[in-house]
Amino acid sequence: MNPDFLVIGAGVAGLRAAIELAEAGRVLVVAKESLQESSSEYAQGGIAVALSDDDEVELHEQDTLYAGDGLCDRAAVRKLVEEGPAAIQELIEWGAEFDREGSKLAFTREGAHSRNRVLHAHGDSTGREIARTLYRKAASLENITFRSHAATTELLESDGEVWGAWLHEPVGARAVLLATGGLGAVFLNTTNPDVATGDGVAMAYRAGAVIEDIEFVQFHPTALHVEGAPRFLLSEALRGEGAQLRNAGGERFMERYHPLGDLAPRDVVSRAITAEMIRTLAPHVWLDFRHKERGFARARFPRIYETCLRYGIDLETEAAPVAPAAHYAMGGVKTDLHGRTNLPGLYAAGEAACTGVHGANRLASNSLLEGVVFGALAGRAMREEAGRAGGSRGVPSGGEPQGMEVDVRRIAWEDCGIVRTAEGLKHAAGLLEGHLDRNEALVAWLIARCALAREESRGAHFRTDFPEKRAEFEKHTLVRRDGNIEFR
Ligand SMILES: Cc1cc2nc3c(=O)[nH]c(=O)nc-3n(C[C@H](O)[C@H](O)[C@H](O)COP(=O)(O)OP(=O)(O)OC[C@H]3O[C@@H](n4cnc5c(N)ncnc54)[C@H](O)[C@@H]3O)c2cc1C
Repeated sequence: MNPDFLVIGAGVAGLRAAIELAEAGRVLVVAKESLQESSSEYAQGGIAVALSDDDEVELHEQDTLYAGDGLCDRAAVRKLVEEGPAAIQELIEWGAEFDREGSKLAFTREGAHSRNRVLHAHGDSTGREIARTLYRKAASLENITFRSHAATTELLESDGEVWGAWLHEPVGARAVLLATGGLGAVFLNTTNPDVATGDGVAMAYRAGAVIEDIEFVQFHPTALHVEGAPRFLLSEALRGEGAQLRNAGGERFMERYHPLGDLAPRDVVSRAITAEMIRTLAPHVWLDFRHKERGFARARFPRIYETCLRYGIDLETEAAPVAPAAHYAMGGVKTDLHGRTNLPGLYAAGEAACTGVHGANRLASNSLLEGVVFGALAGRAMREEAGRAGGSRGVPSGGEPQGMEVDVRRIAWEDCGIVRTAEGLKHAAGLLEGHLDRNEALVAWLIARCALAREESRGAHFRTDFPEKRAEFEKHTLVRRDGNIEFR
């Protein structure tokens, strides 16, 4: 039987929306692999919220706008910071255990935050704790059914309306939510799990939805760089607690690049590391935590400590090899403040969506918050607006993807990565053009084309041929099915 609501994605955004929808009908939540495999599960550092005694939503708002480098949607940022405190209280009521100092919530500081406002759980397992809480809540509601290992390959759309999705077979619904997460796995080096191939963006684009600001990809400076191991993230919080970056010669180099040194903004650190790797012909730099007292790394960052140990590195006695990796997509499927896309019946939330809260660069720890706040808002809008009963109509074939003939991840990494040029971007777009039936290739192609059109450097988008910000580009890129890019 078809559900009333189809939620594609079981990360924080999808789960939060499902809880909202459960009182209005049957909800089916699907995940590409296991229900746990998502970026949410791997989020370490924390969730930002203006809740501490010396903080205010206005300060959180200012910091977010500053990080976004001129491209944030002010109304979306306001919504995020204003609804944040209630969203966190709700998580606590549902059983989320954030770390505390005594009886009070413990807030830490991360890069570009003017206050200590980042809540964490079990030291460095914040996303897992929030996802676990939401899953437990959702699983307790009768109306919600889960299906794992259920990759959606296409949205079902007729006359500009979305009425379901292809999931080995057509599944109709009164409304569909894309909560498919990010697109880091389109790049060779990424902190994201393999499921993060931007499927939501690709499916929405093919169905006729508007894709916004897709060229803005945040690269995290410090992913573990061990041959054959996944690019596990070594959180910024490590540098916040005193970890130092050193190049292949053992020299601390960040002071040469930025007055904030090791705590400079993420994109600055990523570019500085890349420059040092090229200069010293080394495949990585080092993150050094050896000067901290014994037992600290293990106690404050248990998951990071254990993971490094698994790959043969004891953070308390050895420096860890690190290099940048694709981490977070600021752009995505364009939505309004209630998750509505331009297609009736189709909603998006979380990293797959572009609400405009992150602009050209995301403030650390704002994305988990975005997932819970806008997941709830999208769920509410779907509940109130979806009148029509779902059902079968003319069904396109599911179109199983063809075998991969180009190395999309290498092309994206080399030509659409941390440092971009017109030549590289054109090269990437040309190579990918014949392979747009593949989600990864389509997403990388959209990134290449929008990055080529944006002839400036802003936020996380850096072009050596246009190294400055340009006023005429203080606009969003919008791209739709005809492939034309519009700046607005
Ligand atoms: C290593 C790491 C650390 C991070 N640390 C932080 C942090 O400290 N603080 C912070 O705020 N943010 C952090 N982030 C970012 C944050 O985790 C994500 O932006 C956020 O969790 C995204 O949530 P989501 O619900 O949108 O998507 P996800 O949690 O990624 O969930 C996506 C879901 O969609 C499903 N899916 C995808 N494609 C399909 C398909 N075709 N069919 C069916 N299902 C599909 C997946 O299976 C998955 O269930 C981190 C990210 C990573 C990778």
